[in-house]
Amino acid sequence: PEWPLRGDLEINGISAAYDSHTRPVLSNITLSITHGQKVAICGRTGSGKSSLLLALLRMIDLTEGTIVIDGIDISTVPRDLIRSKFVTLSQDAFSLPGTVRINADPFGQASDEQIITALEQVELWKGISTKGGLDAIMDSGLFSHGQLQLFSFARAMLQDGSILILDEPTSSVDADTDELIQRLLRERFRDYTVIMIAHRLRSVVDYDKVLVLEGGKLVEFDSPAAL
Ligand code: ATP
Ligand code: MG
Repeated sequence: PEWPLRGDLEINGISAAYDSHTRPVLSNITLSITHGQKVAICGRTGSGKSSLLLALLRMIDLTEGTIVIDGIDISTVPRDLIRSKFVTLSQDAFSLPGTVRINADPFGQASDEQIITALEQVELWKGISTKGGLDAIMDSGLFSHGQLQLFSFARAMLQDGSILILDEPTSSVDADTDELIQRLLRERFRDYTVIMIAHRLRSVVDYDKVLVLEGGKLVEFDSPAAL
């Protein structure tokens, strides 16, 4: 029972800039997201999508406004705590030197059985089990880029949390893998508040809300059907 249990987000009139001399990259954005909602962020390159995610993680400073999660203004929460509470997946899937086990569960919180289950759910276990299983070393030969993306999903599934943030997780995967990822988002992360930057319209249709940015401003925030 620790903050943030539900994953309700209120973004109140926020503006943000990378430094005080440059023009804001986010301007006066207000919206709220209810726990369990799936929200896609769309917009052209440079519109501020990644910057909005960075603001949620307190990785860039607000010049105006507040972000409140489950009733707590995140500017009062230590940065490290915030980053440990959000489950994040970036565009660039990464691996650390070491075994499959340590890469899937870097903080040693899961049992071998749980790790194997997660790897089965992302359909990687069959392949890994013939190459050394949990003790296999994660060198460059073990996974393709798309498989590494799926592996990152397994890592996220093994973490506790209520908010999942994804920066274009499906940018370099094929259609089948994209479908698998969308299914995991609906099933395994059903109770999570999910905020995902998305380019493919196909993956946006079954989201609850689409958030469209243009030049750092919010221009749409509505259900996909309404847009
Ligand atoms: P893309 O689709 O290309 O990933 P985006 O919508 O994620 O684009 P952002 O990365 O949020 O866009 O960038 C918004 C604006 O902020 C751009 O004008 C960009 O040049 C600027 N910007 C991004 N990162 C930095 C940084 N580290 N320092 C200064 N300005 C930055
Ligand atoms: Mg970006």
